[in-house]
This record gives sequence, C-alpha cells and structure tokens, in this order.
Amino acid sequence: MSFQMTEEQRMATDGLRKFLDKKIEPEFIAHGEGRISKEQMLKWTKELASFGLVNTPIPEKFGGMGMDWVTHLRLWEEVGVTSMDIAIPLLINVAGADLLVHNAPKHIQDKYLPGILNGKMFIALGISEPDVGSDVAAVKTQAIRDGDDWVINGEKTWISNGEYMDIFVCTCKTGEGKLTHIAIDGNHPGLDVRHIPKMALNGQSTSQIFLTDVRVPIADTVGEIGKALMNTLITFERARCHMAAWGYSLGRRALEESIKYSQERIQHGKPIAGHQLIAEKIAIMATEVDAARLLTLRAADMIDKGIRCDKEASMAKWYGTEIGLKAARQAVQIHGGNGVTTEFIVERLAREAMIGPIPDGTTEIQKLIISRALTGVQSFR
Ligand SMILES: Cc1cc2nc3c(=O)[nH]c(=O)nc-3n(C[C@H](O)[C@H](O)[C@H](O)COP(=O)(O)OP(=O)(O)OC[C@H]3O[C@@H](n4cnc5c(N)ncnc54)[C@H](O)[C@@H]3O)c2cc1C
Repeated sequence: MSFQMTEEQRMATDGLRKFLDKKIEPEFIAHGEGRISKEQMLKWTKELASFGLVNTPIPEKFGGMGMDWVTHLRLWEEVGVTSMDIAIPLLINVAGADLLVHNAPKHIQDKYLPGILNGKMFIALGISEPDVGSDVAAVKTQAIRDGDDWVINGEKTWISNGEYMDIFVCTCKTGEGKLTHIAIDGNHPGLDVRHIPKMALNGQSTSQIFLTDVRVPIADTVGEIGKALMNTLITFERARCHMAAWGYSLGRRALEESIKYSQERIQHGKPIAGHQLIAEKIAIMATEVDAARLLTLRAADMIDKGIRCDKEASMAKWYGTEIGLKAARQAVQIHGGNGVTTEFIVERLAREAMIGPIPDGTTEIQKLIISRALTGVQSFR
C-alpha cells in the first residue's frame, strides 16, 4: 500500500471536495440539524453516487466500479468532513451492498443492488435489540419456519437508515445458537418503524423497528441458514473501517476549523496559534488524525488483498473514534466561548463525536477483540 494518494485518487477526492464545499455543505447548513426526509437524502445520495460513493468497491459484475476499499474510504472521508448525517446512510449502504454481493440470492441482488449502488435505494442492517447490544450472539428476534415462509416477530433498535430503508436485512434467531440473515422489503406491513431522538445526528435516521408476524419466503434468506454471525463478522470489518474514518474525518474537520480560528483570533497581542499551549493542541490533533487514517487504510488494504483484519479493524475503530472525540473537545477549547455556541461548527462536531465510540462495537469491545487476538484468551465473559 502506498502512503500517498495515487493520481487517480487525488483527482477523485479533489473533485468530490469541491462539490461538497460548493453544493452539499451550503444545502446541509441551510437545512439545519432537523430530520432529513427520504426525498432530500435521496437527492444527496444520487448526486454523490456520480462521484463513486457506494459503488467504488463493489465488483463490476454487480454494477459497481470494481475498485478498492482504500479508494472508497478516501472518498467517504470527504463526505464525513462535510456531514456525518449524510455520510452514515452511505456507510450502511456500502456495508449492506457488500453483504448482498457475497451472500444474497440472485433475485434479491437483482431487485435491490442497482438502486443501492445508484443512490436510489437504502438498505438497513438490524442486529441490535433492547436486550442485545455488545453481545450480538444473544439475538432474540425469532424467525419460525412455516411451510415455504419465515414468520418473524421481535424488536430491533438503533437501526440506521430505518426510516429510509427499501430493504431490511434482519438478523434473526432460527434455532438454538443459530442466527440467520433474512431480507425483508422495507415496505412490509408487519414493520413498525419509529425515530429515536439523539444528542446529535438527528438528520439521518436511527430507528426502533417492531416486527409483527412478518412473513417472507425462505428464498429471501441472505447467506446460509444459521451462518449470520460469521457473515456479520466480515460486515463488521468493513463497518469498523468506516467508523474509524468517522472519527478521523470529524477530527480533520475539527482540526481545520481550529487552524483557521487560531490564525485569526488575536489575544495577548498575537494570533492564539502563536501561544505554545494552543500550538501543541494543533500538533497533537494533526498527528492523531494522520495516525488514525494510517491504521484504517492498513485494515482497508488487507480487505482489498483478501486478508481477514478483525484485529486491525478493531484497532482502527477504537483509536479513530476516540481521537475524533478528543480532537472535537480540543477544537471547542481552542474556540473559547465561541466554541459552545451554535454559530460555530465545532459545537456540533463535539456532540457528534460522542456517538462514534458506540456503534459497531464499543471502544471496550474493540479492545477485548484485540487482546483476544494477541493472547488467545477470551475476556468477554
Ligand atoms: C447512532 C447509532 C447507530 C447504530 N446503528 C446500528 C445499526 O444500524 N444496526 C444495528 O444493529 N445496531 C446499530 N447500533 C447499535 C450499536 O451497535 C450498539 O449500541 C452497540 O453495539 C453497543 O450496544 P449497547 O448500546 O446495547 O450497549 P451495551 O452492550 O449495553 O454496553 C454498555 C456498556 O457496557 C460495556 N460493555 C458491554 N459488554 C462488555 C464487556 N464484556 N466487557 C467490558 N465492557 C462491556 C460497553 O462497552 C458499554 O460501555 C447503533 C447505535 C448507535 C448509537
């Protein structure tokens, strides 16, 4: 893996950066932090699809560009710098598209993949439940066989894209110790979807989903029956690289805002960037953002080479999201009183950064995965 961007990556990210700065950021700021309708989100995802968002790492035979995860993450970082509310639906769409490419039956791929890759459809992935968080194997939502159908009952929570979804891949218990992915059409009448208000990122959708007698054909099973946990671990590698990029793209924005502000704000007769305690903060933020990106691109490079990277993705995820949080906190400090007003973007970044260390395995869980990989000793229970 090269530490420098290729010429192709540079041109792609530069073009995307210009589009985000000129078109998307002003529209996002004008919209504010309120809920983003599906129509509005579709408008943005369709525009971003023309820059390769979502379809970059998907093989050409499935309608993607057949490129690599490193290039995809370089592009996704740019969206994250502008708005995590817009980047998260893309994260779920690419992780979901990847899951469908490798596991879904052809009729499901044909029905949903083109729409997801062109920014015209959304996918949601449901593991978490009110009693099922870090312990993903404990899923209770049950799918019972009835002739040629599954009948599903249960409750999922924290589901990103829930209110947008055209397809819901639901992790269900299909026997003792057996979890299975089942594709459900997003408009199925047995689904009741409710928004969850949060401290930040209320533009995009995070939902509670109640499933009541949801009947779907057995043929809509995604992957082998009973193999969902194994497939989820592979999806987690992709998702954790994105979560790491959540941290460092948010940290990069916090850094960029802090550089600008510290050059302009004069105290004690000079720009505050010239005071050594502020200069140190800038240096630490910049170094940690770079370190997080390098850890993440190493994991992405392993995915591109077909090497499992559970440990490396976990390192990137905990480090990236924690340094994002640290950078956002320092950015508020550098902005002084202005940092806690809604006039300055760092106030929003600080709230958004608090969320990153939780989804797709908390910081604590990532550390347990890393230590288990190194020592061979289980420390979860
Ligand atoms: C914005 C957002 C979006 C999300 N999107 C999705 C989605 O699309 N699909 C989906 O399925 N889920 C999603 N989630 C759920 C997310 O994956 C869970 O919140 C996460 O796995 C943690 O589970 P929990 O919230 O139940 O916390 P818990 O598992 O209850 O953990 C609570 C605390 O205990 C700690 N803890 C738990 N077990 C251990 C242990 N063995 N050792 C040490 N500490 C431990 C945790 O680290 C944490 O600090 C989302 C969550 C958020 C906040």
